[in-house]
Amino acid sequence: MEKITVLGAGTMGHGIAQLFAQAGFEVSLYDIHDQFLNQALTRISSNLDLLIESNSLTPVDKEKTLQQISQTTNLVEAVDGTSFIIEAVSENLQVKFDLFKQLEEVINEDVIIASNTSTFSIQQLAEGLQHRNRLIITHFFNPAHLVPLVEVVKSPETPQEIIDRAVEMLKLIGKQPVILKKDVPGLIANRLQAALVREAFYLLSEGVADGKDIDLAITAGPGFRWAFIGPLETADFGGLDIWKSVVENLSPVLSKDEKVPAFIEEKVQNGELGTKTGCGLFIHNCHTIPPFF
Ligand code: NAD
Repeated sequence: MEKITVLGAGTMGHGIAQLFAQAGFEVSLYDIHDQFLNQALTRISSNLDLLIESNSLTPVDKEKTLQQISQTTNLVEAVDGTSFIIEAVSENLQVKFDLFKQLEEVINEDVIIASNTSTFSIQQLAEGLQHRNRLIITHFFNPAHLVPLVEVVKSPETPQEIIDRAVEMLKLIGKQPVILKKDVPGLIANRLQAALVREAFYLLSEGVADGKDIDLAITAGPGFRWAFIGPLETADFGGLDIWKSVVENLSPVLSKDEKVPAFIEEKVQNGELGTKTGCGLFIHNCHTIPPFF
């Protein structure tokens, strides 16, 4: 049974560990404190319970999955005999560099390190490594155990066999990998989402419609199609001449703001962060952010 290691047992790490365990890998989950590891195991257990409730998993498979996962605060133990490491520690470059340094002292040269970073480029991350060609980015989406997409980023030095191996592993755990040919900030999905959310914030701030209706214009419209065909295929169906006009006629009037509208800034300053504080655009039951989230 192949062993993989997940570094960081937070929001992303626990879900990634769960996925590999469900696919039959032996998973070592590493974090700096036992309490984070215990919390991760509790979250994995309740994720699996939800799958059982929806008849997507049997109780026997749940037990098997949990048995595949070992937890440790000892890095040497975590990476002993591993072939593939997913790094999902906090989004802090120095934290990642310190960890890479410790890692390279204890792993073989052929072990792949896949970072789940959301914001650092592969060039930035590679500066923290001696053997840079072993590094890739595998960007999972939250919740990692449910969303199929994983964006894969390579550097010019990454050998093709490392990409092939990563893609094979991701497919084995049921993911749909997308490989970027260039490393661009935000990768693909978050760039597209950011363009849409900027315009949604703008329409709301201009009072064009209520928030629920702005969301409905997507969920009942383009969003309904997007689960099956993406924006480029949609353009083919609609006609490239039509989409040329749509893009060129609307581009001058679309938001180009580099900052969010004032009402969003105000909400952030007031701790109205959405679900995690109980208060946001649609919910009005504020509480403080619980620890660890
Ligand atoms: P998180 O804060 O929930 O979890 C980070 C975990 O890393 C914590 O449990 C922390 O104890 C642990 N950690 C910190 N330093 C460590 C170290 N030196 N060694 C081992 N563990 C350490 O963060 P997250 O949301 O799971 O994000 C993890 C990574 O995934 C980040 O790079 C983030 O940008 C990326 N990411 C997050 C999301 C998201 O929606 N949360 C989505 C995609 C990618």
